[in-house]
Amino acid sequence: MFEELKNEVFEANISLVNSGLVLLTWGNVSAINRAEGVVIIKPSGVDYNKMKADDMVIVNLKGEVVSGDKKPSSDTATHIELYKAFPKIGAVVHTHSKFATVFCQANAEINCLGTTHADHFSGKIPVTRQLTENEVYENYELNTGKIIVERFKSLDPVSIPSVLVAGHAPFSWGKNAIDAVKNSITLERVAEMALFTLQLNPSAVLPDYILNKHYQRKHGPNAYYGQK
Ligand SMILES: [Zn+2]
Repeated sequence: MFEELKNEVFEANISLVNSGLVLLTWGNVSAINRAEGVVIIKPSGVDYNKMKADDMVIVNLKGEVVSGDKKPSSDTATHIELYKAFPKIGAVVHTHSKFATVFCQANAEINCLGTTHADHFSGKIPVTRQLTENEVYENYELNTGKIIVERFKSLDPVSIPSVLVAGHAPFSWGKNAIDAVKNSITLERVAEMALFTLQLNPSAVLPDYILNKHYQRKHGPNAYYGQK
């Protein structure tokens, strides 16, 4: 059942480790099959060296395990909340990648400081508010999803496929698992460059007209980057 999607999610989880974004077991990737209403996600706390495609867990949109003999990632409720709120996304990635997490801990959004950022994100990477004490005690993971969705009330999750959860770490998403992993790799590089840029020049900015030019030539209706 869902063999192809299980393989895709497994490979994406392994590529997260290979890209250096994940230490130990601090990361997870999931993907959704919207027609069937199921999410395939990494099992909780399984060593990446021993993990197999068959260990991927299938849950329904209530978070109940439909198939698999392992417990799903403890962040499953966050992933599901994002799928429900963002109908165009097909996969979600969570890491504690170093530089993006530094911005989360500082409670600081990442302004667009250069064209590397503008090629992938149509504006700054937003940071959520902090969760309240009650939100942490009850349904912590679900509430993490809710504060992300709250932050995107007037943002487009397709053109800004990453978020910084205050005091925690980033989530990224994409049209499929590979795309979502790519976005989390890009976010990490953008965060690293932003940190150094701000050290050299705390008031660095990229003019909006350059930001828009770079975003639109890759993603706009008249995009002309890459091969036809
Ligand atoms: Zn986390």
